[in-house]
Amino acid sequence: MKRVYNFNAGPSAMPLEVLKEVQDEFLDFNGTGMSIVEISHRSAAYQAMQDDTVAMLKKLLAVPDDYHIVFIQGGGSMQFTMHAANFLKTRGGYLNTGVWSNKAMEAASFFGETYEVASSKADGFSYIPKADTFAVKEGTDYVYMTSNNTIHGTEWKTFPSFDVPLFCDMSSDFLSRPVDVKQFDFIYAGVQKNVGPAGVVVAIIKDDLLKNVCRDLPVMMQYKTYVDHDSTYNTPPVFNIYFVNKVSHWLDRNGGLAAMAKCNQEKAAIVYDAIDSSDGFYRGHAAVDSRSLMNVTFNLPTPDLEAQFIAAAAEQDLIGIKGHRSIGGCRASIYNAVTEEGCRALADFMKDFHKKH
Ligand SMILES: *Cc1c(COP(=O)(O)O)cnc(C)c1O
Repeated sequence: MKRVYNFNAGPSAMPLEVLKEVQDEFLDFNGTGMSIVEISHRSAAYQAMQDDTVAMLKKLLAVPDDYHIVFIQGGGSMQFTMHAANFLKTRGGYLNTGVWSNKAMEAASFFGETYEVASSKADGFSYIPKADTFAVKEGTDYVYMTSNNTIHGTEWKTFPSFDVPLFCDMSSDFLSRPVDVKQFDFIYAGVQKNVGPAGVVVAIIKDDLLKNVCRDLPVMMQYKTYVDHDSTYNTPPVFNIYFVNKVSHWLDRNGGLAAMAKCNQEKAAIVYDAIDSSDGFYRGHAAVDSRSLMNVTFNLPTPDLEAQFIAAAAEQDLIGIKGHRSIGGCRASIYNAVTEEGCRALADFMKDFHKKH
């Protein structure tokens, strides 16, 4: 069996241990004699697994009792529309720190006024704006932010607070570090960056927020439907939720989110060090104090060298380091499942490539 060093941005590397466990159980889920994808979502065996997934997520993130965790299809992009459909009455404020927050703001404008509370757009989304630049307008229904900017490689180190509800897209750093859920009224994450296969969003919703729903909506567009029916109003994406369950247990076995955060810091330091010790051969895209622990973005002196770098890396089984099509350059995504060994292999390769060029 061949396994490469996988630096894909999403879908992305999953823990080998979990992949094997899923493989082992695939034909016989929990003694049912059927696969998880062959049993009813109304069965006791399925419900127990889904309940356990919610319990594990609550445990890992220390989610307070006045929040619900639900599973929704349609990916992160559905949430760009859905949060505004439910909660944008007058105007929504956006901390615009990358392609995804920008898309969310555009999608939300279907329902009303949207505006930037702060933005790093003019500087190529290379940094996280400071609190003294924030401007929240009167009548703002919520402020929306993206905790980790997958494409530009920046990440909020601490979270801002406002007098209005705070929403957060945590798709690309979900379960990579502890988070104080109380700081937010609504958190969501498409799982395909850090937690499972594409096809489900984990949404964490404060109960009080549901009182702010501002318009009548089709049943599948209402968060209330998912909360009231425990995510089984219709058939949920059973395999995805099962996979999230396995990853949650893997995290828990390995010391939870605090241990994961420490590990992620160490991993990122290895790769950023390769950038910083290159005398400018590699140039990090993100401002140093805004650097993401999940997505390391950088450029080489020329696009031609970047193409050579990506091709030579692939020959060493270092896969997925081409930057996003919108900004080019290189990007190494070092999510939870990417090992320290993988980060060392990349850093060694970077040093070696630099020497040769
Ligand atoms: C990948 C990503 C998205 C988009 O998710 P889809 O499931 O493809 O719609 C949204 N937000 C962030 C932060 C992402 O990294």
